[in-house]
Order: sequence, then structure tokens, then C-alpha cells
Amino acid sequence: MRVSVDHALCEANGLCVGILPEVFDLDEEEVLLVRDGELAGDEVERGELAVTTCPRRALRVTD
Ligand code: SF4
Repeated sequence: MRVSVDHALCEANGLCVGILPEVFDLDEEEVLLVRDGELAGDEVERGELAVTTCPRRALRVTD
């Protein structure tokens, strides 16, 4: 499982960063960075939580 962000929807509130900091980060310009690559172990569950928590529905799960 991988996740991706639609930057047109993301409002950079950092909720996903708090849930899964290994994958999400905000750069100095408040743009969300998403680590490329497969989620492993408990990252999968927290990745799914991040997707459902995002108030802007900006995150997507990809294969
Ligand atoms: S939770 Fe959603 S809106 Fe907030 S930073 Fe993450 S992707 Fe962007």
C-alpha cells in the first residue's frame, strides 16, 4: 500500500504528519511531502487512519 496527496485539496494542517511522521512531512513552505514507497508493518494501519482523518479528503491509497 502507498499513499499519495492531491495538493489542490491539501490545506497543510499537519494532521497526517501527526499520525504517520515516517511518511508525511511539511516543508518550510508548508507543502506536504509524502515519502514514496510501500508502507510496511503498522504504517499500513496508520496510513489508512490518515486517509480517513484528512478533513480535506486529500489523501488516496494507491497499490
Ligand atoms: S491531513 Fe489532509 S489536509 Fe492535512 S496535511 Fe494531511 S493531506 Fe493535507
